[in-house]
Amino acid sequence: MFRHSRAALVFGLSCTLQIPAALAAKSLVVTVYPHDELVEISDEQLNTDYFQHWLDEMRSFTDHPIEIVFRRNVEGITNIDYANMASSQILDTFTQAIVELQSSHPFSFLNKHLLMTRDSYDHSGANYNAGLAYFKQNTAIASLAAYNGPAHEIGHMLSTTHEDAELKFNGWICETYTHPRSPARSNCYRYSDKNRANISEYLKYNSN
Ligand SMILES: [Zn+2]
Repeated sequence: MFRHSRAALVFGLSCTLQIPAALAAKSLVVTVYPHDELVEISDEQLNTDYFQHWLDEMRSFTDHPIEIVFRRNVEGITNIDYANMASSQILDTFTQAIVELQSSHPFSFLNKHLLMTRDSYDHSGANYNAGLAYFKQNTAIASLAAYNGPAHEIGHMLSTTHEDAELKFNGWICETYTHPRSPARSNCYRYSDKNRANISEYLKYNSN
């Protein structure tokens, strides 16, 4: 009799514990590392100019919990001397430092890391790169050169592609976040429908 009721109690407990766990999706956490050279630009300012419109866009098509965290003064990361490095080299250096920094944490594809720098990369004549990301991976770099730069690169980490991006019209021709950038066009401050679907799929797949 005693053993029976004990078994029932254990069953009851495990039910109570399992239901909330199944409903609570793990947050997508974007950790932003402003380079030491951005000391005079506050986290609030960076958030207003580069991240709030991205967050608003994400909230318009997914109810997945999202957090943006700013981390400054991280030795080996926010002081990377990137001025003479190619973007691929900066991204590699940043990625290795993140792997070390995260070595004691459990790995998750929902933990994204973005290094923000003042200057853009790979200058050649009038051309430059405003950012670079590892597709569907956890690291990216973006410069202050374009307001949609972080959203473009975070998108790549969440599986958005240039092919699925599109031009729209909002009074002027605008580019969705993952469209290759041209200064003649404005920002739509949103992803294309196809890239929204790519992100939703990615979040769903990696939440389990
Ligand atoms: Zn791109």
